[in-house]
Formats: sequence, C-alpha cells, structure tokens
Amino acid sequence: MNILILGGGGREHALAWAALQNPKCDKLIVAPGNAGIAQIATCARLDIEDGGAVAEFAGENAIDLVIVGPEAPLAAGIADRLADAGVLVFGPSAAAARLEASKAFTKEICAAAGAPTAASAHFTDHKAAADYVRAKGAPIVVKADGLAAGKGVIVAETEAQALDALDDMFGGEFGTAGAEVVIEEFMKGEEASLFVLVDGETCLPIGTAQDHKRIGEGDTGPNTGGMGAYSPAPVMTPEVEARAMDEIVRPTMAEMARRGTPYRGVLYVGLMIENGAPRLVEYNVRFGDPECQALMMRLGAQALDLIHACAEGRLDEARVHWADDHAMTVVLAANGYPGAYEKGQPIGGLDALPETAWEMTFHAGTKWSGGEVVSSGGRVLNCTARGASLAEARDRAYALVDAVDWPGGICRRDIGWRALGAAED
Ligand code: ATP
Repeated sequence: MNILILGGGGREHALAWAALQNPKCDKLIVAPGNAGIAQIATCARLDIEDGGAVAEFAGENAIDLVIVGPEAPLAAGIADRLADAGVLVFGPSAAAARLEASKAFTKEICAAAGAPTAASAHFTDHKAAADYVRAKGAPIVVKADGLAAGKGVIVAETEAQALDALDDMFGGEFGTAGAEVVIEEFMKGEEASLFVLVDGETCLPIGTAQDHKRIGEGDTGPNTGGMGAYSPAPVMTPEVEARAMDEIVRPTMAEMARRGTPYRGVLYVGLMIENGAPRLVEYNVRFGDPECQALMMRLGAQALDLIHACAEGRLDEARVHWADDHAMTVVLAANGYPGAYEKGQPIGGLDALPETAWEMTFHAGTKWSGGEVVSSGGRVLNCTARGASLAEARDRAYALVDAVDWPGGICRRDIGWRALGAAED
C-alpha cells in the first residue's frame, strides 16, 4: 500500500513510524514532514490545505491511502476533495469536521443526541453575553466559537475575568473565531481523552490518554499545545469508557449519520469525569498531539490496519489487540515557549538514541540545516517510551530526554504525576 500522510509534527512522525512497522506499507510519503520524518520516509512539499493539489499529487504518486494529521485541512474540505477524486482518505468531511470547527454545532449535536455535556448558551451580541455571565456568576467558561488553536477558551474564576474575555473576543482578538461566543457551565472533575475510530457507523475505541497542557510543573503557568501525555488514563476505567461510548460517542455519531453527515476518521473525545460519570468537554476531529505519540507506541503495526479498515468502512471486522502496556511521551520544547523562543539551534545526541518498539524520539519542530538537525518550532522533540508499567515507561522516556544534547531545550519533569501518584499511593 502506498501511503501519504499530511502534516509535519510529532503526531505525524508517530503515524509514519507506526505505518512503517506494518509490512503492508510499501511507499510512504509525508507532506511536509520534518527532520525526523525525513529519515524514515520521503518528504514532499505540498500545500496540504489545497485539496486539488493534494488529490493531483496522490494520483501522480499512486497513493492508496491518505492519512490527514491536523484539523485545518479537514475543516477546509480535504477529505471531500480526495473522495471526489476517488482517493481513499482517513479523516472526516468538512461537514463532519464541524464537530471541532464549531463549538456551538457540537453543543447542538449533543442536545439532539441527549449526550451529557456542560450547559451552555451562545451569543453573537456582546451585551447579551455579558448579561448572561452576570446572571450565572463565576466560575464560568467563555469560548470563541471557531478554531483558535487552543487559545480561545477562558476558564474564568471570577465574573470580571469572564467579562474581560468577552471584551477580547467581541473586540476581535480571535478574528472571526470570536464573532460567536459559547458560554459554558464550569465542570468539575478529572480530564481524560478517549480515541475512537468511526467509519460512519461502527465506533471502535482505540485507547485513552491524559495530557499536560500547562508549561510548568504541577500544571502551572500558561497553556501550551501539550507538554507530555501518557496512555492509558487510569481514570478511564472500563466502566467509564463504556459509559462514554454508550452515552456520548454512539448517540452523537448516530445523530451525525442521521443528518446525512456521517463521521469517518478518528474522533478525539475530551471528557470530564466526576464520580465515574463522563461528560463531553470537546470533540476534535483528529489525533491529539502529543497523545498520538503515546497511542502509536502502544498500537504499533496494527495502527495501520485499523486506520485502513476505518477508511474502507470495515471497522465492524476490526479488533484492537492490547498488550497490557503503558506509554509516555515527554515534549522537549524551546526555552521561552509558549512565548517567544529562538529557532535554528543545533540539537545533538540524536544518532545515539535507541529506536526500538519500546522507545522512539519523534520529531516535531525540527529541520535539517547544513547537515545537522536544528530546532524550527516551539515543541521540538517527543521522547516516547513504552513499559510494563507507567513508571517503567516514564524512566525510559526521561532516559531519552537526558541523552539529547540541546542546552536550549526545556521539558517538564513531572509528566504522569497524577497517574503515578495514584499508582504509588
Ligand atoms: P484544545 O483543542 O486545545 O484542547 P479548545 O480550544 O478546543 O482546546 P476546549 O477543549 O473546549 O478548547 O477547552 C480547553 C480546556 O479548557 C479544556 O481542556 C478544559 O481543561 C477546559 N474547559 C473547557 N470547557 C470546560 C468546562 N465547561 N468546564 C471546565 N473546564 C473546561
């Protein structure tokens, strides 16, 4: 099978690595890729949001399956264009990708399907929104409706913070994403994510994870794209997972199909769990980054079979074969991230890092420059490891971190603290 993966982060490096574990993968091209991906696959320059260009490229290169990594091309309709051109694609249509692109839409689907989520209201009028905040009081959550790269959500502890957030959003800080604002009830509990493959009809859970969004240890400081993750998430017991599937995922997916916009691809189900009861925080229409790195490490070669079965609508025949294992990924970021940081710093020690089914260093913001690997983004490397326990996975992942020679790199030393603390109690 000839495969094209769209994207160039740690998620796509992990997807590429997993695809290559499977003997069914003949040719692998990644667009645009990064320095690490370039060592295992062919990297292509391609505007991945230009559906026509990607379809043409897929035709010219006899691609049998396109795996779409990030959300932006999906929201722009890449899956529709590829399907029209007769190219098999893993990723939802633009209509189904609204589950991530519009929070108000997801709320409406949840209401129609009876899926538990935070009570909410949406507004296009600043004054009406402010009146609602004053009526409800704090804590309360204010969200720009559209895609805002994870920055359009304010969990306000005071009414004043919520009103400030409304000023920013209606003041245009998030562009058109903030023209409509969703205001939500604050949900208490522990957050975790569930990953589900959906082929329009069948929903197959393929793993759970927890990430660490904050830059600082102890989950402090500003939000980032994610500083580390581990899988499985202990809070997602089989009972909680079964409830999430029965009460949230299957009813909402059935509602999407009923509306003539069936969902196909991986669904990232962000959940808040309180006393064993899951409620939906958000849907994303792609794998999370860095959760994907931990998941791929656990799934290995079967990931490609599952993705292929999903794209072909054969999930009813598919099974996940679990080892009783754990995986963790630790993000090495550029000093200063998520604020201003330097790019172009050389990174040493990479050639000596072990690359096995137990430990892999996935590249995110890296590129080749003058024969060496240099940093080219905020999140740069994802040191990822598997183990029989989470503690073993953690020790292996941090051994990778310590072997990287990059004085300008920073990481959190406490990835997995919540799960590890619970395991050691
Ligand atoms: P991302 O995709 O980067 O996670 P997003 O912009 O899609 O972010 P959400 O996932 O909806 O936004 O919210 C971001 C975070 O804010 C959540 O992961 C959660 O920690 C918190 N949050 C969102 N909604 C609520 C809520 N109703 N109650 C409590 N916390 C919430």
